[in-house]
Amino acid sequence: MLNVPSQSFPGPSSQQRVASGGRSKVPLKQGRSLMDWIRMTKSGKDLTGLKGRLIEVTEEELKKHNKKDDCWICIRGFVYNVSPYMEYHPGGEDELMRAAGSDGTDLFDQVHRWVNYESMLKECLVGRMAVKPAVPKGLLSKTQVTDTLTKEGLNSPSYDWFQTDSSVTIVIYTKQKDISLDSVIVDHQGDSFRAETIIKDYSYLVHIALSHEVEEDFSVRVVENVGKIEIILKKKEHTSWKCLGLPLERHNLLTPKKDAGLYYRKCQLVSKEDVTHDTKLFCLMLPPCTHLQVPIGQHVYLKVTITGTEIVKPYTPVSYSLLSEFQKPVPPNNKYIYFLIKIYPAGLLTPKLDHLQIGDFVSVSGPEGNFKKSKLQELEDLFLVAAGTGFTPMVKILNYALSNVLSLRKLKLMFFNKTEDDIIWRSQLEKLACKDKRFDVEYILSAPTSEWNGKQGQISPALLSEFLKRSVENSRVLLCICGPTPFTEQGIELLHDLCFSKEEIYSFTA
Ligand code: FAD
Ligand code: NAP
Repeated sequence: MLNVPSQSFPGPSSQQRVASGGRSKVPLKQGRSLMDWIRMTKSGKDLTGLKGRLIEVTEEELKKHNKKDDCWICIRGFVYNVSPYMEYHPGGEDELMRAAGSDGTDLFDQVHRWVNYESMLKECLVGRMAVKPAVPKGLLSKTQVTDTLTKEGLNSPSYDWFQTDSSVTIVIYTKQKDISLDSVIVDHQGDSFRAETIIKDYSYLVHIALSHEVEEDFSVRVVENVGKIEIILKKKEHTSWKCLGLPLERHNLLTPKKDAGLYYRKCQLVSKEDVTHDTKLFCLMLPPCTHLQVPIGQHVYLKVTITGTEIVKPYTPVSYSLLSEFQKPVPPNNKYIYFLIKIYPAGLLTPKLDHLQIGDFVSVSGPEGNFKKSKLQELEDLFLVAAGTGFTPMVKILNYALSNVLSLRKLKLMFFNKTEDDIIWRSQLEKLACKDKRFDVEYILSAPTSEWNGKQGQISPALLSEFLKRSVENSRVLLCICGPTPFTEQGIELLHDLCFSKEEIYSFTA
């Protein structure tokens, strides 16, 4: 099915080579890719050694299974026999053995909390832990919440509701001033209503089975100066509601964002346009009953089922174009999300995305990432250093900075690619540079043809120091860098050598 090259996996260009925190991945033996693992899970082999039986596992029992050839790990209360998976794990056997015979949830979450192990390891499921912890991971008690929030200078959020003849308004009081329309994600399907508000590093959930039916569409308003969010639902019948509804999972709870879990909604593919020989602009439409705006510099996860296994990877939404004259008329309520996606013919997920037909559905998570647009306020110089699709987070940053940061004198993009054909949106970048004198773009090619008379090579001190000239001495500056992990890591080191402080650098990493 896949034409897998003979080199070791992950391939040199795979973002799976290095995980967060610069943890290097080990090369896997041939025939041990994720796709090979998926095939193995479909082979009908007894991967648990229990012939399909599910058992209750005590802590004592779990501890006994701590060897490579007999290795059980508990993840989120479920116990898996991971011995058959050892050779397929991109982090290597030693990494997996760190959790042997114990609860590996934290370890797995630290590396890639978005990877759906429940789906990847379902054929290795031994059973559940006999005793579940009283408070599920991530949920804080009321006192813990109050203590933590006080320490961080936050107030506990709350919600309320009121009604008129034709509408029900759910009001969320965040008691924070930096709240905007992208701080809240609303989904309602049938009678289930879910509003997740992101408050600093926390997620506050209002999750209710509504007592009466409402129309599909709704509106969201934010009163920024008091941090109040209003979600206005239209009643289907003009009757008076006695109660809003019944609480659902995690309702009215504040959870550290890293523990909150990802919620997906199905989005429809509206269009797919060629941008370069291998990169396409995908447009997905949110369901009518969803309010979701991805903040600048943040990404979402796309989830696709490949031969029965859920595969999840991150992608950074972009705007439709860099130039206002190419902007499509904005549909009501920002219902479209655009992605620039490079298709790797031997990759796992992107060929599947490439084969999607208009009208097909893809699951899209809520936003993740630490970038805050407040970083761009008051800037005088903004330098963007991108390699390949590492350009994607720069798109919205570029658009926002040129239109909203009044103090900006200079915005430079240093764009590394292999060849001229790989440069994404080259003509738009050049038109933008002509149109706005503050903006300048420089391409550096690592494998140019002989006709290329621009810059060439890889990221280096010489290229960076020539490029990073401030508009005035000691200007307020930010430098954003994104690309393959080794590129970004090398760039950060070089930037420190060039005396950019930690606060002046923002790196986009896995
Ligand atoms: P993979 O399976 O990861 O393969 C990638 C490469 O490895 C290919 O060259 C493939 O040929 C090679 N390979 C695969 N299997 C083997 C094997 N067995 N042996 C040898 N080589 C092999 N990408 C975008 O295009 N747009 C974005 O907006 C974007 N945003 C991102 C945001 C974040 C925060 C991060 C971390 C990554 C982002 N990426 C983005 C990258 C994206 O998440 C995927 O990593 C990328 O699309 C590749 O996925 P894949 O499953 O198709 O390829
Ligand atoms: P690519 O075409 O393979 O490479 C683009 C340029 O980067 C080339 O000039 C290449 O030079 C250079 N490069 C690659 N690896 C390098 C290294 N180790 N050291 C120095 N230069 C290097 O890139 P791509 O396939 O588009 O991949 C883009 C990467 O960006 C992916 O890994 C993706 O995961 C990541 N990404 C991250 C985010 C995020 O937010 N974190 C967002 C989008 C994309 P050579 O020809 O010499 O290799």
